[in-house]
Amino acid sequence: MPRILVVEDEPNLALGLEDDLKLEGYEVEVARDGETASRRAREQPFDLIILDIMLPRRDGFEVCRDIRRAGLRTPIVMLTAKTQESDKVAGLDLGADDYVTKPFSPRELRARVKALLRRAAGDAPELYRFGENELDFSRCELRRSGRPQELTPLEFKLLAALIRHRGRVLTRDQLLDDVWGREIAVTDRVIDTHITNLRKKIEPEPSTPCYVVSVRGIGYRFDG
Ligand code: CA
Repeated sequence: MPRILVVEDEPNLALGLEDDLKLEGYEVEVARDGETASRRAREQPFDLIILDIMLPRRDGFEVCRDIRRAGLRTPIVMLTAKTQESDKVAGLDLGADDYVTKPFSPRELRARVKALLRRAAGDAPELYRFGENELDFSRCELRRSGRPQELTPLEFKLLAALIRHRGRVLTRDQLLDDVWGREIAVTDRVIDTHITNLRKKIEPEPSTPCYVVSVRGIGYRFDG
């Protein structure tokens, strides 16, 4: 039974989340302030953490940073306010895996939780199929309808990074880190150009992508 730590100081919301997740069969612990959350996350092995940002004693960003600094890779879903685009980016940059915007539907949150747990459980695939495409990690090769497609090494790295983090939004900064490496100066525009080129090779309709989806103001997400 997966164990989830819910970090939320609003009693009604915390209770609602706890009930809802327990009904789904998860074991749930609630922490009502950031300090407790940070401590519990390091004391206990949780499978996933749902983390509000505005919290007493230590905010969600600090808690997220504490957890990652402690070397824990526990998936983290942040609860962000609708108006704060910058919060989403900051959370993801600090190592959160996903976010849900308040007010959220319980169904949406359940779906995100399930997806993250599934991803955390599965090992990196050797072969990943989406639509008529097939990415072969071991041979660094993309095939479309069985035929090898020309991918530049950079496009391969970009696609591999997106697939490894599928279902999760990657900021341009994270892509930069993953694909280019920090030492190289690359503008957002360059990243976007490579994404456009990649889409031409994998999307049925590159102008309305269904796999490499833009998330406005934040970055990209692989759906597939
Ligand atoms: Ca709060």
